[in-house]
Parts: sequence; structure tokens; C-alpha cells
Amino acid sequence: MKKVETRAVNIGNVVVGGSQFVVIAGPCSIESRDQFLNTAMHVKKMGATILRGGMFKMRTHSETFQGLKTAAAPLVQEIKQLTGMPFVSEITDPRQIDFLHDFVDAFQVGSRNMYNYELLKELGKTKKPVLLKRAFSAFVDEWIGASEYIASGGNENIIMCERGIRSFDKVTRNILDLSSAAIVQMETPFPVLIDPSHATGRPDLIPAMSRAAVAVGADGIMIEVHPEPKEALSDGFQALTFEAFSSLMDQINPFVSAAGKTL
Ligand code: PEP
Ligand code: MN
Repeated sequence: MKKVETRAVNIGNVVVGGSQFVVIAGPCSIESRDQFLNTAMHVKKMGATILRGGMFKMRTHSETFQGLKTAAAPLVQEIKQLTGMPFVSEITDPRQIDFLHDFVDAFQVGSRNMYNYELLKELGKTKKPVLLKRAFSAFVDEWIGASEYIASGGNENIIMCERGIRSFDKVTRNILDLSSAAIVQMETPFPVLIDPSHATGRPDLIPAMSRAAVAVGADGIMIEVHPEPKEALSDGFQALTFEAFSSLMDQINPFVSAAGKTL
């Protein structure tokens, strides 16, 4: 099959889809200044170049923590300044575009919203990069179709992110479909990331799946990190501790070099 040339996308000052294997890291949800700042400082020190942190959360149950929402904005502004890192956060509703536009460097479209074509069309009218996660039930063709809704509005700054699909085996949270990343590389001009945190739901599998992400030719990974995973308000079971994140970076380093890329 013909390999389509990847068109790099800039998230802030970081080029996704070039010679750098990009590590996006941070907590599932922004919970407090200390939690976000300490995590940001640690992941930056270890070589992550883009910060993540959920402000608007799409939770399975309505009574669970839904994110700090707009209250997280001052923390984000401050911590972006302190770290100098670009920031990615999930948008769950087109009405959040104006608010988020000022301080996110890329909009993340979550798995649950991949089919929200009205949201995708609105994001297509912006110039801001969109990190489009695969729905956990989506055919690769539907995922690529979703990217076309954004691109057809004029915004081709799209980064695809495989985050695992549902299947019968509960041994992992989802099934990490590495072949989808290879297909996206072959068939679309968009860079592709892998999210082994949501794909496996298991810190003990994240290093191996991250090495696999390098090997399959992905342009980077997205990893959830928390100072105290047991205390996390969302996805604590899959969050890496600071120590585990440091170890992950050490483990992927030789694979990234072998792939002719840098961290
Ligand atoms: C997340 O990145 O925290 C998230 C909710 O991911 P997904 O949409 O892939 O479940
Ligand atoms: Mn999460």
C-alpha cells in the first residue's frame, strides 16, 4: 500500500510528525495547583515536551468528578508559563471553543466524542491542532472519516491518537490496536500517537506498549502520570507514579534512538 507522506503538526513549539518522538504527559484530570505543577515539573525534567491535563471530563457516572472545568484556567496559565510547555486538553462541547482557544495549544477530542460531527465541524473552522482519539468502538475507517470532518472545514492540523478498542477480554482495559497506527501512517497525512494508558489501563504494561509504539512508527505517546495514583480523582489505577514515568523514559530511549528519532 502506498505510504502517504506525513505532514507535521506544530503543538506550540513542538513538532509532531517530525524527527522527534513526542511524549505528551500529565494527569488524567487537573485536580489542584500542587498536583498539576508537581506533575508538570517532573514530566518536563524527564523529557516530556507537551503537557496534558483534563479540565472537562467525560465520566461514565454523573456523580463522579467531572473536572475543575473553567476553574482550572488560572492554574493552567500559570503552569504553562512556569514550564514553558505547550498544553493539550479535552474539549467536550463546541460551546467551550472560545474559552479553551486562548490557552490550549491543541484541542483533544475524546473517544466518546469522536462521532460528534458537529463538534468536529466546529473545530474544523479553527486553526488550532486537534488531537483526535479513536472511539473505543470505531472502525479505522470511521476514525479516518472523523478526521475528514475536521479537515473539510479547512483545519488540517490533525493528530490521530489510538487509545484502544473494546473487546471481550478484561485482562486489559481495552485492546491496543497497533495495526491502526500503521494504517493511519500509510493512508493519511496525519501524525499518529498511541495512548497506552487508556489502551491497557495497566501501569505494568505501559513501558512495553510504549516501546511497541516506537517500533510501529508512531510519532509519539500520551501517558497519564499522577503524584499519588491511589488518590487520583480519575483513572488513578492506570496512572504512572513519578518514578514509573522516569523508568518509562529510560526504557524507551534506546528504542527511539534505534528508530532514528530523538526524544
Ligand atoms: C483522557 O485522555 O483522559 C480520556 C478521557 O481519554 P479517552 O477519550 O481516550 O477515554
Ligand atoms: Mn484518563
